[in-house]
Amino acid sequence: MEPIFLTPYFRPKIWGGRKLDTIFHYDIPEGKVGEAWIISGYKDDASTVTSGPLKGKSLREVYHEHPELFGNPKSKEFPLLVKFLDANDNLSVQVHPDDDYANKVENDSGKTESWYVLQADPGAYLIYGHHAKSKAELTEMIKKGEWDKLLRKVPIKKGAFFYVPAGTIHALTKGSLVIETQQSSDVTYRLYDYDRVDKKTGKKRELHTQKSIDVTTVPHQDPKLDIHTEKVQDAEIKTLVEPPVSPHFYLWQIDLDGTWQTSLNNHPYLLVSVIDGKGTIESNGQKWNLKLGDNLIIPNEMKNFTFTGKMRIVMSAPDEEQE
Ligand code: ZN
Repeated sequence: MEPIFLTPYFRPKIWGGRKLDTIFHYDIPEGKVGEAWIISGYKDDASTVTSGPLKGKSLREVYHEHPELFGNPKSKEFPLLVKFLDANDNLSVQVHPDDDYANKVENDSGKTESWYVLQADPGAYLIYGHHAKSKAELTEMIKKGEWDKLLRKVPIKKGAFFYVPAGTIHALTKGSLVIETQQSSDVTYRLYDYDRVDKKTGKKRELHTQKSIDVTTVPHQDPKLDIHTEKVQDAEIKTLVEPPVSPHFYLWQIDLDGTWQTSLNNHPYLLVSVIDGKGTIESNGQKWNLKLGDNLIIPNEMKNFTFTGKMRIVMSAPDEEQE
């Protein structure tokens, strides 16, 4: 059994840049590219297997055709989505619905997401939450366009972590590069787009004002995170978020300088992205190289494995029932 190595699906974006090429050395399309969907089983925007017997298949196909690799999960679609986002300009201010609302209104999943900052220009910040005390005040401030008064700005630096539950108003702004781990969904309500006009169409992008107001949590609440670090062999494992705070996924940052012999630890499978350095993963006498920008899934049948090298990885696991 081998790890499932994936190649990203890229999305050009007006706010994107070229860091996905200059930093991760991905072969990206021309122009402004904002998103690399590095571990994605989402509809037609899935990542593709790069090697082994499943080479060329999309993660979506693999998930449907080989449920055993994922521990025979209950979830009908691959539940998580991991992206690199290169914000060379401000993204629109947005909010995502929770599962109940999204199932009812959009026939899709809700979206809770998280950001881990890989790089931030001096002075970079995020929009995270708002200052309205009631729905009435929220509605009023939106109607009057009092964005500076409404939106909460939080300065960021490399290594900062943000958990963004459904219902949180949020936006990345210019000069930030992040790895985003989230529920696999594409339901986004755009609240404010800086009154920008698309150069090609001469129009503003569509806003979803009423839906945004409906799903926004008021007043804003910062989630109570319990970030903690544990040293296991040569690995420093930082738990960024886990159930029950995050009902959909576990997320860790792992700093390795040497060797870490480990296992799936009762998770059905693991999602791994190398965000710095290089090394190897070994299992059953076989060995695969890892380097910055590599993304892989450790499947259910690969129970025990060993990481070696000097690297930082971001790892996640779904929290879901198995059959
Ligand atoms: Zn979002």
